[in-house]
Amino acid sequence: MFEAYRRYEFHDVVRLLTDAVITLSAEYIDPVKDALYCEAPRSPVRRSVQTTLYEMVRTLATWMAPILCFTAEDVADELSRATGARFDVHAAVRGEQAPAGRNMKSSNPNKRWLEEIRPRREAILHELEAFRAAGHKSLEARVVVKPAAADRPHWQWNRDHLTELAVVSGIDVDATDSAGATEIRIVEAPGPTCPRCWRRTGESSGSRHDPNLCRRCAAVVDGADAAPAANLEATKRS
Ligand SMILES: [Zn+2]
Repeated sequence: MFEAYRRYEFHDVVRLLTDAVITLSAEYIDPVKDALYCEAPRSPVRRSVQTTLYEMVRTLATWMAPILCFTAEDVADELSRATGARFDVHAAVRGEQAPAGRNMKSSNPNKRWLEEIRPRREAILHELEAFRAAGHKSLEARVVVKPAAADRPHWQWNRDHLTELAVVSGIDVDATDSAGATEIRIVEAPGPTCPRCWRRTGESSGSRHDPNLCRRCAAVVDGADAAPAANLEATKRS
């Protein structure tokens, strides 16, 4: 990004910013809504998503600051207000002028994301298109995968991540290998639908709040009952 600034090629800056926002929106912001809305305020998953979002906003503000000075400053002011730690976005830009450029693509390639998770997520989304076109939400889907033998470890190892990133209710990996290429089928997930997170896990918690709550949501709601003051405090801070 700052390489483009140094070359005064602002059209590249705008393209990189736009690409970053579109990619983040499609591949990260949508899937993490569940963690933000449904996990307990202090759960490590939710806090981890909040930390990541904080770093993303901070980075985007720094990237845009030279050409969108006042907008970047508004973002920085809001971050400072929310965290209590002053964030001087224009000082962060000056830090970027140092020649030791950080090029994440070459110095920190996220191979697991690029080579294992992303192509399989895209394969699921491709199969989901017809299911959604038939009027279903993606959370009503359960993905059934019959993997080629060489592909099996990748599906098993990344199954939980893929379930969240494709925003489906579950992924079943068939016990037998496919004779040819990996096969992906979408079936309607068994009910009930959790009234809190809309996932269909095929299990009811029997919670006294609502028997159809999934086990995760029942645990969160029961935890809120058990420690309302602590959770309220955590919500205020987060
Ligand atoms: Zn739920």
